Amino acid sequence: MTASAGQQAPLRPLAILGGTFDPVHLGHLNAAWEAAELLDAEVRLLPARVPPHRPPPVAGADQRVAMLRAALRGQPRLVLDTRELERDGPSYTVDTLAALRAEQGARPLVLLVGEDAFAGLPSWHRWRELFGLAHLGVLTRPGAEPAWPEALRETVAQRLAGDPAILRREPAGRVVALPVTPLEISATRVRELLAEGREPRYLLPAALFDDPALLAPYRAVAGG
Ligand code: ATP
Repeated sequence: MTASAGQQAPLRPLAILGGTFDPVHLGHLNAAWEAAELLDAEVRLLPARVPPHRPPPVAGADQRVAMLRAALRGQPRLVLDTRELERDGPSYTVDTLAALRAEQGARPLVLLVGEDAFAGLPSWHRWRELFGLAHLGVLTRPGAEPAWPEALRETVAQRLAGDPAILRREPAGRVVALPVTPLEISATRVRELLAEGREPRYLLPAALFDDPALLAPYRAVAGG
């Protein structure tokens, strides 16, 4: 035994990026990829089945999973986790994190959210409990500089950490900014372009264009 009694090696964090991924685009993938580097973390993408905060996705759950599988093929760093699609009812992040906490023990968990989503955190189900379950990693997102509501500012004030390395030493409770390369891509814009019959080839992973069935739900909107 090399480690002295009572001393534990820091655990590699597990970070999750939830979203509708309707469709997955290079903004998601690059932010997740760079977060994995900045945190030296395993990163999982978790598509939501019934997002509680927003209108239903254009593509069905199976179609969004097929796009994610195609997008993630051939790289080892980003992993798909479909647990929210397997659960009945709305996808509450607090429930997902509680399940991951039960599985992962004291391993640091990091909930990745874009700046826009972070500003809306106080509208999430049981949002204050999120900090007891995971750290929050806030991904910079161009075009999104929303003001933080007062309740969020107060909650975050004592939790802000400058150095992502702190996240390795505690299981949950810190908030860290993750400055990822700004890519001003949104699924809304991608859906608009496809519905207009345009071809957003370099906003999406190339694999989404290999199988015409993958982007068909968005193109059908134009004809319908
Ligand atoms: P929509 O336009 O349909 O609202 P979206 O592009 O915001 O979709 P989501 O699936 O809602 O994509 O996003 C999932 C998560 O990824 C959110 O936390 C969001 O802030 C973040 N995210 C999405 N696009 C980017 C981007 N270009 N840069 C950084 N973070 C992003």
